[in-house]
Amino acid sequence: MMKLQQLYEGKAKRVYATDDESRVIVSYKDDATAFNGQKKGTIVGKGVVNNRVTNYLMRLLETEGVPTHFVEELSDRETVVKKVEIVPLEVIVRNISAGSFSKRYGVEEGIVFERPTVEFSYKNDDLGDPLINDDHALALRLATAEEIAVIKTLALRVNDVLKAFFKRVNVDLVDFKLEFGRLADGTIVLADEISPDTCRFWDSTTHEKLDKDRFRRDLGGVEDAYSEMMRRILG
Ligand code: UDP
Repeated sequence: MMKLQQLYEGKAKRVYATDDESRVIVSYKDDATAFNGQKKGTIVGKGVVNNRVTNYLMRLLETEGVPTHFVEELSDRETVVKKVEIVPLEVIVRNISAGSFSKRYGVEEGIVFERPTVEFSYKNDDLGDPLINDDHALALRLATAEEIAVIKTLALRVNDVLKAFFKRVNVDLVDFKLEFGRLADGTIVLADEISPDTCRFWDSTTHEKLDKDRFRRDLGGVEDAYSEMMRRILG
């Protein structure tokens, strides 16, 4: 497969065209942003961790019946994925209160929910990714009713698989963000990444944070937390 011109540069990744119309190459950077790009920095080695962790988890999810965009890991930072049209929704699943949930509803972090919650944000940097409900997503034609139903079912299946997986490595999966895409034929597949940038991971014993909150909240030990998560996941 030949890597061709850069198609897109985001906050954490670059995307390149290939000689295959149906494939693109993603390249993970060490650049870190938070609070809608207001806080910027570098997390040394993050690109390697996020690429390898994402690919490990995408493979696991495929074996558990979740269709994903994953094709092939090329190197520590680069992966071939199926080209998709991203559905402009951030799909957030929560098992334990934290972050914007705690802030919005005025509750402490760490409340374990009886059932997971699924919520959507409208992926729009100019608007700051506002919370949106199903009816609003339909009104804005971001997705069809059928697509929203598939996305919710897949998001909950991802949660079941990942919660069980992380329990085995002594990590509580607090919450995470997913993105879905449409293949050329309209099939919905899991896309983007699943990494310490996009999940909250708490050590089950010590409740130590092992994710991007260490960067967001200036807790120190950011690189160590990312490499610790890679060690626990990849073994
Ligand atoms: N998240 C993300 N990208 C975003 C917003 C959130 O990956 O643009 C992840 C975040 O890392 C966390 C989960 O989604 O694991 C829920 O985030 P929350 O809504 O609490 O927002 P935050 O507190 O991160 O602003």
